[in-house]
This record gives sequence, structure tokens and C-alpha cells, in this order.
Amino acid sequence: MAGSGKFFVGGNWKCNGTKDSISKLVSDLNNATLESDVDVVVAPPFVYIDQVKNSLSDRIEIAAQNCWTGKGGAFTGEISVEQLKDLGCKWVVLGHSERRHIIGEDDQFIGKKAAYALSEGLGVIACIGELLEERESGKTFDVCFQQLKAYADAVPSWDNVVIAYEPVWAIGTGKVATPEQAQEVHVAVRDWLNKNVSAEVASKTRIIYGGSVNGGNCAELAKQEDIDGFLVGGASLKGPEFATIVNSVT
Ligand code: PGA
Repeated sequence: MAGSGKFFVGGNWKCNGTKDSISKLVSDLNNATLESDVDVVVAPPFVYIDQVKNSLSDRIEIAAQNCWTGKGGAFTGEISVEQLKDLGCKWVVLGHSERRHIIGEDDQFIGKKAAYALSEGLGVIACIGELLEERESGKTFDVCFQQLKAYADAVPSWDNVVIAYEPVWAIGTGKVATPEQAQEVHVAVRDWLNKNVSAEVASKTRIIYGGSVNGGNCAELAKQEDIDGFLVGGASLKGPEFATIVNSVT
């Protein structure tokens, strides 16, 4: 079963950039020609969201890289969903491996954020993915399914969810998954959704790949039937290369 959704490409800028470098990146993106049949989203650091919203073409939507689990208030250092919406964000990236493995966020905490963001109308880019030792010990599917189940247990609906499969060993390492490795997990994820959520959700939910995607490897990956787009880190900091990845839609 292959996905039926529109190709989706997200640029995750992570903790990179300055006012100046972001203004250059935005101007490169505004000047790029982007295939019309692709949903394009960028996720700037929180502090630059307003600058990006005010200067980036409306063709590209804005995601936050994280959010709080509920309404704002006495939560020092956190950013609420309401504040993100106030700045014009349409999406939030949740469960990224850097937040799971460096910051220590667990499945339940991530599920809670996803549920709240969706209930407030934000789309969720829900990341999953295994560590190298988990892959090497044959646990890739178990790990991905456990992370998926935590989302499934929490979210009220999958309408506004894009799943990002990002093997941790491929993120920021230059070691991209082969198209076959990515396709194998995407099929398994779709199958899991089919068995555990519904056939409709399995066919409609976009499953995008992330992990060292660049202008050189995107075309081969995009040919895979179950790869419905990409979540791009490093290469999304270069406007023309990011445009090449967006335009790799087949
Ligand atoms: P990368 O990051 O493209 O730099 O590997 C991907 C991601 O973390 O989303």
C-alpha cells in the first residue's frame, strides 16, 4: 500500500542561524522556483520565527521545533502552542531524536505535546527512528512501533499528522539510509497504521524520510513508493539545495 498524500518537504533549521544568515536564507527561498504540488515547511529557531514569518513568501509554511504540553503559564523557558499560533506557525516538529536522546524527552511526554498541539489546530511532524545499536540488534521495527504507539495512544486524530522516519544513525552524519532501507521501514509503518489505526489513516498519512538528505541523494529516495517527502536538516540551510530537494517530487 502506498501513500496518497501530497509530497511534503520540511526544513529543520535546528539551533542554527543569526538574523543576517536567516535573512539571506529567506531571500534565497523567496527567489527559488518550487514545484507547486509540494507542501513546503521550514522550522526556524523560536527566536527567529517572527522575522521569518514577516519576510518569507506565504508559499512556505512555518513550523516550530518544539512546544509545551498545554496552555502557557508558569513554565520557565517553554513556548506554548497558542504563542506559536500567534506568530503564524502552522506546524510543530515533535519527538525529534535530538530531543529524545540529548534532552531526554520520553514517548509519553511527546504524545502529550502532540495531542495538545493537534487539539489546538497545529499540524504535527511526528518523528520516530531507531539508534544504530537498535538497528544492529534487529530492533528497528520494535522501536519505531513503540514510538508510533505512543502517538496513537495520545492523538485525537491523524488528519493533521505527518510521520517523519529518521534513523538516528543517519541524522547529521552524512550516512543516509539507502532507498531500500528507508522504503522497508516506511512500508512497515504504513502496515502498522493499517493494523492498529485504520486503512484510511494508513493510506492518507504522509510518511517522510529524514537523515542526511541532500541535493544529491533526494531523487533516488523520492522514487520509493512509500517515501512521501523529506525532513531535511543540514541541507535545508542552503536555499538552492533545499529547493532541489523540494523539486525531487516524482
Ligand atoms: P540532517 O538532519 O538532514 O542534517 O541529517 C535531519 C533532521 O534532523 O531532521
